[in-house]
Amino acid sequence: MAKKSYKIEINYYFCKNCGICYSVCPTKALDSAELGKPIVSDAEKCIGCLMCERLCPDIAINVVENVKVVENNG
Ligand code: SF4
Ligand code: SF4
Repeated sequence: MAKKSYKIEINYYFCKNCGICYSVCPTKALDSAELGKPIVSDAEKCIGCLMCERLCPDIAINVVENVKVVENNG
């Protein structure tokens, strides 16, 4: 079975750089950039736990599962 992959969307218009998201991320898919700004450092590491999305006080993170298109040539 293929490994699931996720897209992490950060809405910088809502984000207040509080740091919760990259502090709670268990795999360090999220990291901090200058002035505490969150960045997606490695989306491949995301396990889709949704901790960042649920704990962000400003509803600035959205994690979505990438849907793999399976070609059927049969
Ligand atoms: S938890 Fe939300 S508001 Fe805080 S740094 Fe992360 S995205 Fe920004
Ligand atoms: S869903 Fe989980 S693993 Fe993925 S970026 Fe958010 S906290 Fe990290």
